[in-house]
Amino acid sequence: MGVVGTSGRFGAYGGRFVPESLVAACDELAAAFAEAWSDPAFRAELTDLLVRHVGRPTPVSPTPRLSAELGLTLLLKREDLTHTGSHKINNVFGQALLARRMGKRRLLAETGAGMHGVATATAGAQLGMPVTVFMGERDMERQAHNVFRMRLLGAEVVPVRSGTRTLKDATSEAMRHWVGAVADTHYCLGSVLGPHPYPWLVRELQRVIGTEARGQLDTVPDVVVACVGGGSNAAGTFAGFVDTPARLVGVEAEGGAGVSGGEPGVLHGARSLFLQDRHGQIREAHSVAAGLDYPGVGPEHAHLRDLGRAEYTTAGDDEAIAAAARLAHAEGIIPAIESSHALAWVIRAAGTPALPAGSTVLLTLSGRGDKDITTLMERLS
Ligand SMILES: *Cc1c(COP(=O)(O)O)cnc(C)c1O
Repeated sequence: MGVVGTSGRFGAYGGRFVPESLVAACDELAAAFAEAWSDPAFRAELTDLLVRHVGRPTPVSPTPRLSAELGLTLLLKREDLTHTGSHKINNVFGQALLARRMGKRRLLAETGAGMHGVATATAGAQLGMPVTVFMGERDMERQAHNVFRMRLLGAEVVPVRSGTRTLKDATSEAMRHWVGAVADTHYCLGSVLGPHPYPWLVRELQRVIGTEARGQLDTVPDVVVACVGGGSNAAGTFAGFVDTPARLVGVEAEGGAGVSGGEPGVLHGARSLFLQDRHGQIREAHSVAAGLDYPGVGPEHAHLRDLGRAEYTTAGDDEAIAAAARLAHAEGIIPAIESSHALAWVIRAAGTPALPAGSTVLLTLSGRGDKDITTLMERLS
């Protein structure tokens, strides 16, 4: 398929742009993951955790009423049903087990919407590892419930007051902190971003979404669609279908469209596509979905776009909110606003040349809408 993982290069993207002091830590992590990932005992331990604590495999659900309305067959891969309510936990349990195997004592994480922070706090509590989460001050206000959840789970939440006080700044701060703590601390990065080995490692840990879905379907769907923030739920989903004829579609937030609106650049340790001004300064992202409020995308997506293997499009705040309400009414499922962006594209494109009537569409529902209830209440009443 041409997507190189272990070298850290995805075509013209990826790589490792980090301070000298992190090179050894990244090397150590890459070697430890390669070794663990080929060890059946590690795989079995992770699978056991995912079955007993996360609720895997998650079902693929039909949507009879909405499908009839749209004139196609829409199937949902239900990551919203996992423990803690989003796909983030797949990656976190894998990294936490790996950290323990490497003899690391502590976990460090960044979070935007708070889902990755909650997942990391959960894994830390379960495996007896202290957790520190960096979170933008603005996101802490927007996602107060998740801040409380993390603290209830025993994690320390550190407010980040620099820049736009959102995910980009939390990630910068977490990486800075890791430099001083690498000896005993694993940095549990939440998406397919950052220096090698993270984009590869996180994709491999999220591959379970695509692999499971492929096995749960009788036929290969015409279209596989997922929302794209950093790109981990999409990368994990696409990994299960990249060798099939299925079209792969990533849907970004209009105001956080790294692929659709970005240009090549380097941020957070990797070369990829980022929103930039004409001086190359990173531009601020804006989305009603905190999980999509990031000014770039993981390097593999940039590469899949260049190859023409995956297509990327955008959805706006209002249509995502409307899509969430429509799924709730039609099927009794309240989706995360992030996932609702993917659904908004399906609703908009259904019956057009972009998504012909009669298509079979697999959509990864990356999370549940519980965390978004306040936003939905404000926007829908
Ligand atoms: C974090 C998050 C996203 C975006 O992250 P990706 O790495 O692009 O998957 C999407 N949906 C939910 C529910 C999230 O919590």
